[in-house]
Amino acid sequence: MPSIELLARTRCERQRGVNKLTAMARLLEKWQEKWESSSLIPEIASWISRKHGEKTFHLSQALSGHGFFSKYLHFIARKEDDKCWYCEEDDSPEHKFFGCSRWATMKQISEKCWNRRR
Ligand SMILES: [Zn+2]
Repeated sequence: MPSIELLARTRCERQRGVNKLTAMARLLEKWQEKWESSSLIPEIASWISRKHGEKTFHLSQALSGHGFFSKYLHFIARKEDDKCWYCEEDDSPEHKFFGCSRWATMKQISEKCWNRRR
């Protein structure tokens, strides 16, 4: 689901008379721009039309960054710094999935299992 900011922008455009298809195309474009700054989902259109997977609480946290990540916890004043608990680098979803040494082995095991199931 797009951020509330993007949804509000789309609603404003609709109220100013922009037709629905144009407003939705702009929404998708802006949403794509946001995701391009993230390495989690490189192409949002293929992601939202995918036939597999479910949107869960934890997936929402990972995608939004509003979850158990030091960067977010620091932002909402729940943690003194934005450093990872395990390696002292800046903690974000990208760090947890791609950079943190703590989860590297777990990630490799998961990828092997996934590749065997294909
Ligand atoms: Zn780490």
